Amino acid sequence: MSSDLERRYRSVMMPTYDPLPILPASARGSIVTDIEGRDHVDFAGGVAVTGLGHCHPALVAALKTQADTIWHLSNTFANEPALVLAERLTELTFADRAFFSNSGAEANEAALKLARRHAHVTHGPHKHEIVGIEGSFHGRTFFTVATGGTPTHAAGYGPLPAGIVHTPPNDIEALEAAVSDLTCAVILEPILGQGGVLPLDRAYIAAARDLCDAHDALLIVDEIQCGVGRSGALFVHQQMGITPDILTTAKALGGGFPIGATLATEAVSSVFTPGSHGSTFGGNPLACAVANAVLDEVTRPELLSNVAARHDQLITGLDEIGTETGLFTEVRGAGLLLGIVLAEEYAGRARDVQLAALEAGVMILTAGPRVLRLGPALNLTEAEAEMGLRGLARSARSVTGYH
Ligand SMILES: *Cc1c(COP(=O)(O)O)cnc(C)c1O
Repeated sequence: MSSDLERRYRSVMMPTYDPLPILPASARGSIVTDIEGRDHVDFAGGVAVTGLGHCHPALVAALKTQADTIWHLSNTFANEPALVLAERLTELTFADRAFFSNSGAEANEAALKLARRHAHVTHGPHKHEIVGIEGSFHGRTFFTVATGGTPTHAAGYGPLPAGIVHTPPNDIEALEAAVSDLTCAVILEPILGQGGVLPLDRAYIAAARDLCDAHDALLIVDEIQCGVGRSGALFVHQQMGITPDILTTAKALGGGFPIGATLATEAVSSVFTPGSHGSTFGGNPLACAVANAVLDEVTRPELLSNVAARHDQLITGLDEIGTETGLFTEVRGAGLLLGIVLAEEYAGRARDVQLAALEAGVMILTAGPRVLRLGPALNLTEAEAEMGLRGLARSARSVTGYH
């Protein structure tokens, strides 16, 4: 940040973040303009949230129309946008029932509580163990940091919720050893987002499904980051042909308006009763109206085929940059959630590359110290992608000293 901005920020904000040194002021599509009037190509997407870019006309219209209609009721009353959203999400997925919240962490919190309660009701309190994956991320509430596989996120907050074990990603034998009759749920991200954009193998997720069936446990699939069209399908598990018991979604579901959803079968959901879980804002009409507009867009085949086309374009461009500069050798992920793994020599320098990219007019994310993460809008144009690649090439050259 400029020293003025930094001073102002540090004097009033809790020190949980270390924001990058520009102050974005306005944005359209995938171009963000900072307060000094400088344009940036947005390959960060607000951490894979602005899936339709900034100020998408259909989303703006939905929000404005709803703003003039009714804002908030709480769940003391039903509301039409929430009912429509639940009808559509249950139509589009395996799920029969929806629970709405305001964030990804809350969507997972509801999923974990539902799984615990389901095991209590069907088997008794001894069946309460949750199996999570090392390196995974499920949010920052107490239950979700304990379930996530990033020990630093839970450090200093103990005693943590008990009954949670962790197992390494893509290790089927270790998963078999971790799941038992005491397990109430396995929770996994099909692509570990924060954990380095690391895809789980289809065989691994299928093994998790089989183990859950064998031990009468629930499979919770967290598609908060990789879902809502980002992989080129509405959800990754649908592409893989694997059906969870509980699905969580958030981030791009609201395109930037906060919303989370926990989706489950009727049989699982039925262990919730009035009063067993809740949220004041969850299912808020403004959020649901925007999410309905998001679903209109992300279910369009042209949008999903754009994800595939831009994926190919970015992979080709990134391969050229990697070959030319030696900054990275591996690009992984799916659709428009990409992880660029820095070469051994540059391991630990993701933040430096992120700063260099910003200097070159491209906003990118990191996923740990060795991985750059791209989560651009799904409607990114060919020209915007090209502009971003040119900026990334410049920043790769500046970091590696290649000319
Ligand atoms: C971002 C994220 C969450 C948490 O969502 P918040 O809205 O930050 O609470 C949970 N799981 C995954 C996979 C995420 O990427």
